[in-house]
Formats: sequence, C-alpha cells, structure tokens
Amino acid sequence: MIDEPFFPTTDVLKSRGKAQLALHDRAARAALRQFGRQVFLRGVVEVSNYCRENCAYCGMRRDNRDLARHRARLDQMAELLVHHRPPAITDVNIQSGEDPLVVREVVLPLIAVLRRETRLGISVCLGTLNRPLYHELKSAGASIYIMKFEVADPALYAQLEAPGTFDERVKHIRLLAATGWNVSSGFIAGLPGQYDNALLANFTLAQKLPLAGCSVSPFIPGDETPLSKEPTAGIDLTLNCMAALRLMRPHWVIPAVSALNLAEPGSGYRRGLRTGANLVTINLTPPDLREDYLLYKRDRFIMTEERILSAIEAEGLQASKQSLADFYQQKKTPKTESRHPSIERVEVLNG
Ligand code: SAH
Repeated sequence: MIDEPFFPTTDVLKSRGKAQLALHDRAARAALRQFGRQVFLRGVVEVSNYCRENCAYCGMRRDNRDLARHRARLDQMAELLVHHRPPAITDVNIQSGEDPLVVREVVLPLIAVLRRETRLGISVCLGTLNRPLYHELKSAGASIYIMKFEVADPALYAQLEAPGTFDERVKHIRLLAATGWNVSSGFIAGLPGQYDNALLANFTLAQKLPLAGCSVSPFIPGDETPLSKEPTAGIDLTLNCMAALRLMRPHWVIPAVSALNLAEPGSGYRRGLRTGANLVTINLTPPDLREDYLLYKRDRFIMTEERILSAIEAEGLQASKQSLADFYQQKKTPKTESRHPSIERVEVLNG
C-alpha cells in the first residue's frame, strides 16, 4: 500500500490524547518500515564557543560578553575521539559557534586525523562559512553538514537575528547539497512569536529543500539570552512536529535531540524514540569546555552512552553498526540490478 503524501495541519501539530498517540504511533511505524529497529549513534564534540553571530535564542551570541570563550585543543580532541570514545558510536559531529578560525586550526586537522585513524562517519555543524572552506572540509573527509534553517518565517528569522540572513542560510543549504554533502537541516519549535502559520512554514520549507535529514529542537529559553524570560517549548508540540516530519519524509534521518530532556525532564528523549526518531547523540565534549558551550542553560542534561543504550533497548530498538555516513553513501550508489521498479516508485512518491 502506498501512503498518501503527508502534510501536517495546525490541528495535527496541536493534537493531544488519542489523536496524538495515533500520530506518534503512525510515525514510529513509518520509521520502522524504513529503517527497521536500527538507530544511529553519533557522538558530538563542541570545539569552540566563539561566535560571530548574534542569535537571540543562543547563549553563545556575540553580545553575551560575560561568557568565557574557549577553543578546543586539537591534540585533546584527537586523543578523545581516537582512543577514548564510547565504543557504540559510529559517527561524530564536530560542532562549533560560527568561528572560521577554529575550522582552520582544529576542525580540518581533526578530520584528517579521524580519517586516518578511525572509520567514524564525520558530520560537521559549523555555521555559514564559504565555498572554499566547505570544499576543504569535504576533501578532508567530512560528508554530512548540519545546517538548520532555524525558523522558516523570514520576518521572525530577522527579528531573532538568526545567522546571517534567511535567504543566505537557505542558499548555503542548497549550495552544500549541490556540492555533494548530505545535508541535515532543522528548526526550533515553540519559539516566542512563532504562530501557527510560521510553524507550518517550517514544513513547507523543509519539504522544498534537498535534505537527507531534519531535526526539531524545542525552544529552550537560555539563561544568558534576551529570551530568558520566555516559556520553554511544549514537549507535545515538539514531538508532534517530529512525527509530522517523519510522515512527510519517511526516509529522512530524524534525531531525538538531547534538548527533549530539557523540555520534559527524564522522559522527553525516550518519547522522541517513540515518535519515529532514528538518530541519537552522545555529548563527548570534555566538561571544562562543555560548561561554557552555552546553547541553553548551564545545567544541561547530558546523555551518556549508558543512558542512551538503555533508552534504545527499553524502546525495543538497536544501535546501528553501520555509520550514518556509510548509510548515505550506500544510498547514493545502489546496485542498479537489484533495484525493483515498484520500490523506486515508492521512494519517488515519498519524496
Ligand atoms: N554555529 C552553528 C551551530 C549552532 S548551535 C550553526 O550556525 O549552525 C546548533 C543549534 O542549536 C542551532 O542551529 C540552533 O538550532 C540550536 N539552538 C541554539 N540555541 C537554542 C535554544 N535556546 N533553543 C533551542 N535550540 C537552540
């Protein structure tokens, strides 16, 4: 049976009770059909909290003059990832404030070391850089770029001082995809001023972009930001958005972001896995750097390998042995002779 193409309505995104359970269940089944019980496990290292941007929601914004700024040391990061990473992770995401200097001095040489010493798939989330730098990152061995469009409503984007301009961010997402990156984007749900139409616009934009994955982060009012007094996003809205993305694009990789546990302490993350997410992240940033990598609040909930593996198991899922990078690579070079026409058709219909 081929499902109708799915696009959410405001009612779907706000559903509760039985309708909500049915939505989440349908999304979880769509993920199961597409990916089986496999969940990708990616470690994240945050390598710099220097940032030239000034996003109203983010604690690393340049106007936050009280924040102690650090860059990670290459040897420390290499040692951590080559010799002391949790065995279950297959991929690593190197993330940072928008800091071109750290890209040159730490990220590029770190990718070279990882390529030489490990089989880890490499994702980067470094903000809007430039074409030559994207090229160098890819030549060094990264293959997945995470660039969230943050919020699809251009007026709200400008008001929140999200990175650069809205048009530029979207242009960079397209440029990355056109130059061979697997691009994962994403948006923040429950932002102050994000009314129904602006919320739906996230789906319209996500649908148009050449993405391999997409995330939904609940808005967390950062202590040291202009939005500190605003309410935290509802976990229900966030999970409903994740479920809707899964149904809209069954083949996308959709993470259960760790901030789900800030939106609903203790269980938010587990509920994400029940809503069609198929990627989880383990924060590996050493504590001395993590302290000031201030996306949200200082007391971030850190998912350790043990917590993650037990959540995956409790949900009847399994940690994938294949890296996300290899998964994408394999999808790009399918064995043509084994492709069945009807399978191709389902894929085309799904997006
Ligand atoms: N400089 C990089 C990485 C930014 S931090 C870039 O521009 O892509 C990674 C993500 O954290 C951001 O893209 C944003 O979506 C999210 N984020 C930051 N502050 C947040 C907050 N208060 N609530 C929810 N998500 C937030």
